[in-house]
Amino acid sequence: MISNRVKLLEAYKTETTQAKVKLSSNELSVDYPEELKDRIAKEVSRIAFNRYPDPTASELKEIVAERFGIRPENIMLGNGSDELIYYLSMSVGELSTGVFFPTPTFPMYEISAKALGRPLVCTPLGEDFDIDLEASLQAIEGHRPTLAYFSYPNNPTGNCFSKEKIQKIRSLGVFTVIDEAYYHFSKKTFLEEAVTREDTVVLRTLSKIGLAGLRVGVLIGKEEIVKELEKVRLPFNISSTSQVIAKLILRDYYHIIEEAVDTTIKEREKMLQHMSNMKGIKVYPSEANFILFKVECMSAQELHSRLLKEGVLVRNMSYLVDNALRVSVGKPQENEMFLEALQKVL
Ligand code: PMP
Repeated sequence: MISNRVKLLEAYKTETTQAKVKLSSNELSVDYPEELKDRIAKEVSRIAFNRYPDPTASELKEIVAERFGIRPENIMLGNGSDELIYYLSMSVGELSTGVFFPTPTFPMYEISAKALGRPLVCTPLGEDFDIDLEASLQAIEGHRPTLAYFSYPNNPTGNCFSKEKIQKIRSLGVFTVIDEAYYHFSKKTFLEEAVTREDTVVLRTLSKIGLAGLRVGVLIGKEEIVKELEKVRLPFNISSTSQVIAKLILRDYYHIIEEAVDTTIKEREKMLQHMSNMKGIKVYPSEANFILFKVECMSAQELHSRLLKEGVLVRNMSYLVDNALRVSVGKPQENEMFLEALQKVL
């Protein structure tokens, strides 16, 4: 598994350099003003690099709390939500107990559990990409996992699972992580439950709202749960630079992010419409900032290469979903280029 990941990263590097339009990593396409770049340069130049960053990232936490409508006490920050996933897999339940998640889903749940030697308890999603409740309840009763991950919406399928099914699974006594990395594009959330229940936390991230390079993930939970998880957090996990830039943008430029999110949602609907009229692909609905589609007229690898020759980079998801590609929703002109290229090479 680890060597596959290395290969993937190598491919990603070479592909990125060839692409005119990069729609492979579900980042937000957003244009920040030049004036912001000048302000960042000034603020960064004031950082004392010989000093450690604020280990509590308290000012950033306050701003994040305000933006997400919660209290700073309910927040733990990570170096991306990837790091928070590691902490959860490390801290929730004994390491000898299993980690549950429906598949296909975001690979980090599996990678973190395997790295810690934890058994995996997985059930395949149904045809509609929703949770197979019966199979999941059976697997949980049989293997008694102590931790469950739900990507909500699910990467790479794009849909939100049924809330009731998640709640039924949780009612068997499994600590439940709702990974809302794509929340801003679905507006569906378990936030209320995360701040009131002992068995539920929500993960959010700044990566999908225009700040992927800063590596800031956000865990939201009851104060006692946050305190418990904080025990394994590396003390200086958010760099001084990330703290300074994230604070500035979330405080003074959040409206730009909100506009870009709104545009992305509108663009997603347009793309879905266009793509569903194309022959040779099967398109799935999406509540996220990406669209999954199955390739029916050639191999997904072939279509991926043809798109890349046209300068458009998408993600080949065939390792998770049979013969499928995933395209992120970008700026209107990027999406236009993708649609034209797709029409041309299909
Ligand atoms: N969860 C999901 C469902 C994701 O798709 C991603 C990123 N692809 C992450 C978490 C990780 O995000 P971050 O950049 O915050 O580590």
